[in-house]
Amino acid sequence: MSIQVFGIPVSRGVAIGRAVLVASSRVDVAHYFVGVERVEHEIARLRDARDAVAAELEGLKRELPPEAPHELAALLDVHLMLLHDESLTGATKGWIRERHYNAEWALSAQLEVLARQFDEMEDAYLRERKADVEQVVERLLRELVTSSRATPSLPTQATQTARDFAGEDPLVLVANDVAPADMLQFKRSVFTGFVTDVGGRTSHTAIVAHSMDIPAVVGAREASRLIRQDDWLVIDGDAGVVIVNPSPIVLEEYRFRQRQSDLERARLNRLRHTPAITLDGQPVELLANIELPGDAAGALEAGAVGVGLFRSEFLFMNRGDDLPGEDEQFEAYRDAVVAMKGLPVTIRTVDVGADKPLERMSQQELRHEHGLNPALGLRAIRWSLSEPGMFRQQLRAILRASAYGKVRILIPMVAQLGEVKPILEALARARQQLDDAGRAYDRVELGAMVEVPAAAVLIARFLRHFDFVSIGTNDLIQYTLAIDRADESVAHLYDPWHPAVLQLLHQTIACANSMGRGVSVCGEMAGDTAFTELLLAMGLRSFSMHPARISAIKQRVLRSDTRQLAGHLEQVLASDTPAQALSRALLGRFAH
Ligand code: PEP
Ligand code: MG
Repeated sequence: MSIQVFGIPVSRGVAIGRAVLVASSRVDVAHYFVGVERVEHEIARLRDARDAVAAELEGLKRELPPEAPHELAALLDVHLMLLHDESLTGATKGWIRERHYNAEWALSAQLEVLARQFDEMEDAYLRERKADVEQVVERLLRELVTSSRATPSLPTQATQTARDFAGEDPLVLVANDVAPADMLQFKRSVFTGFVTDVGGRTSHTAIVAHSMDIPAVVGAREASRLIRQDDWLVIDGDAGVVIVNPSPIVLEEYRFRQRQSDLERARLNRLRHTPAITLDGQPVELLANIELPGDAAGALEAGAVGVGLFRSEFLFMNRGDDLPGEDEQFEAYRDAVVAMKGLPVTIRTVDVGADKPLERMSQQELRHEHGLNPALGLRAIRWSLSEPGMFRQQLRAILRASAYGKVRILIPMVAQLGEVKPILEALARARQQLDDAGRAYDRVELGAMVEVPAAAVLIARFLRHFDFVSIGTNDLIQYTLAIDRADESVAHLYDPWHPAVLQLLHQTIACANSMGRGVSVCGEMAGDTAFTELLLAMGLRSFSMHPARISAIKQRVLRSDTRQLAGHLEQVLASDTPAQALSRALLGRFAH
């Protein structure tokens, strides 16, 4: 039977595919298809892993001290029994043979099937056995990962080896939550859409999905409980609806929409290399937001005239204690700079903390581990200033990359005037250290992100110390309205049109322009066509967004005349319902 699940639309378009249910903790398990010739090899890997885990468990049992409680031996027996049970290993082989999943993926797919069966059991004792199955699978996965390290010829990351193996069936990912760090893995994967139970419109997870330009729905609460492994899904990323097992008529209607949006995308793509100039001749700079140096090529391809935001924290995720040192960071920044072929690259110093912890964590874990509101805690520049050695190391790495092209440094979440001095001192010391070491670097502009209302209110004072500002509307909205951007329960109150938000934006843009300083917007609003004309009317001439949004925004810029809306700006800003006031003003424009 067809059911619908509602959530928050975060990335547009329609995806149609089979559901792959993945537990949050296993999103980073490698997901790739194996060729026909590799199927038996993959099954052999699974068998070897099972034998190794069996030997490990037998060993543990043998070494139990005589005084150990009897339950321990019984538990190991249960694990051994599960390990040899057909419903685990037999069915896992089925996923490999029929779907051509790699062993790790097949195992986690089967775990999801079993976990659900356990959840539905009446008997509480049997229900609790789910934890045992999970532990056994965990051991098997660990064994598979270790053994694939020993055999480096095996693909170890989520790559798509052959679309043919998916046949007609594209795949969509369904999870309770996907941590931002896991999204990086997801970036290289085979999924064509995704659905999560938690998350808000501008949660970092949603942002990464958006940057991949694949349809996504977050905050769909019950999705991972209602959807079953292998169900057919339609993800309507425009309406925020997921249709589970749609009827043939509904499916056909969505296939039609999918073709329409592919055509629209192809049409917009033709604008790629057209300069963004308004009807009244105002040049507008359209820049890209990237997460990894490898994204730079795509940004260039999409027609970006530079990188307006390189979220460097993604280099630091999934690393445990092994954080990237100066040389490794330098290489990453240099690669992005070289890939941009002389166009400017704005590198933001790490914005860790809040929903981007260094370790992989789900939203729930985050709230538990980091207090009730990590967004108000040790995040971004606060974190960097609390780790001065790491901060200087990052500044040195960025400065060194400036020898290869135009680089700008951007400091996230500046809020205190008192933060300016230590930032400038750290930069001066980093330069001195490079001079002492005889390392080359070039002139680098220093910018601040305006994403805390305090910075917007005191913008003129902050701008005495910075060459430019970039407005992070995602956080500016969160902090102005006191709405956690990752919390789906208050997502309906997260309102970019709020008059207070618009006022702060206008004030920041106007002040920077009057002081002759650069100003850009790099939050989601910059990539949303609903705001293009309004931001232009406020005086904004630099927008930074996901590369996938550049063509659509460019089309809007090409059709805008900044003079026409200027006369209506005060009225829109003074309105209690600015969105309606703007539509009226734009309609009036066409009536004349
Ligand atoms: C923002 O806050 O708008 C922004 C661009 O930064 P991030 O989304 O990485 O917090
Ligand atoms: Mg931010």
